[in-house]
Amino acid sequence: MGNYAIIQNGFVIDPEQNSIEQRDIGIIDGKLADSKSVLEQGTNIDFIDAEGAYIAPGFIDLHVHVFKDATTLGIEADLVGIKQGVTTIVDAGSAGYANYQLLKDTVIERSVTEVLAFLNIAKEGLGAGLSELADPTNLMTTEEAKEIFASEPQIVGLKARMSGSVVKEQGIAPLQHARLVADTLHKPIMVHIGNPPPYLDEVFPLLIKGDIVTHAFHGKKHGILNEQGHLIDEAEKALQRGVLLDVGHGTSSFSYQTLRKFKENYRQPFSISTDIYLNNYDNPVGSLMLTMSKLLELGFTLEEVVRAVTIQAAQAIGLTEQGTLQNGTRADLTIFTLHEHPTDLVDSEGAVLIANRVLQPKITVRNGRVVFRQ
Ligand SMILES: [Zn+2]
Repeated sequence: MGNYAIIQNGFVIDPEQNSIEQRDIGIIDGKLADSKSVLEQGTNIDFIDAEGAYIAPGFIDLHVHVFKDATTLGIEADLVGIKQGVTTIVDAGSAGYANYQLLKDTVIERSVTEVLAFLNIAKEGLGAGLSELADPTNLMTTEEAKEIFASEPQIVGLKARMSGSVVKEQGIAPLQHARLVADTLHKPIMVHIGNPPPYLDEVFPLLIKGDIVTHAFHGKKHGILNEQGHLIDEAEKALQRGVLLDVGHGTSSFSYQTLRKFKENYRQPFSISTDIYLNNYDNPVGSLMLTMSKLLELGFTLEEVVRAVTIQAAQAIGLTEQGTLQNGTRADLTIFTLHEHPTDLVDSEGAVLIANRVLQPKITVRNGRVVFRQ
């Protein structure tokens, strides 16, 4: 593919305009451009046919695990990235201060998909088992954090997993430490929520505007909603402060029932991510597009589910070249179709939803080049 391209005949979803319209998209030297300028200036223009498909900014998955060399759960980045129509993925805490360099050498620099990272507050990330916050001597210091964040632009925030099995006797202490570190970095913390302790009325007060709560709609006890389907007080206050919610589907962290209840009472936008890894790739997660299809069937609009993996995800981690269709920004694009055929889609609780429309990847464009075609 040359320096000039025009994608034709597709329906363009612009998440910033909340619009869907049939129009052409131009690309000049890897950046989005007006299609008229491409026609005027271009030589050897590549015409890409998107007939019957939708074109959106490249999808962003804020929660994946792709650190194959240091963790047993890591999955191939491009398999869950560009081959699934996802142009940017964020590894959520597989790596920590001590093994980030290996993630960079083996995954970030070798993948066609853009790979970013939330750095685990535990030094070895998930590389030394899944109780990474049980020993306080494993925590990254503020000095170490400052050093690595200053030199590694792919690190977009911190990750702290707040489940009983992760923190053991430490309770809320690792998150208190993460708060101090994040305050010196001015970067968000992605907090995983699950089975307590710590309880959410201890977790939420430590979060500030821009922090991200992943696994927000899990179906376990002690979640963000009370029995009546309303947000617990501390969650409600946190959302008012600007704390963000994220799906983080995963093996055991996404419940249709929880999201249905939330949707009945709240219109708060959130990001959609997969928490995909080796053991949940086949079942129940599948892919980011399948996760989006589940939300589509739960009554969210196509524009909403696309916003959740583009502009909302981009803004959550401060990306300005991604998640947008503005001319001059990086030409990362996801071209997908809506397959209209009843399909069984399962959540983490084993509940089955018959989805009437399923998103399917068709063409993935990264830096203005076609990197995947179905
Ligand atoms: Zn995860």
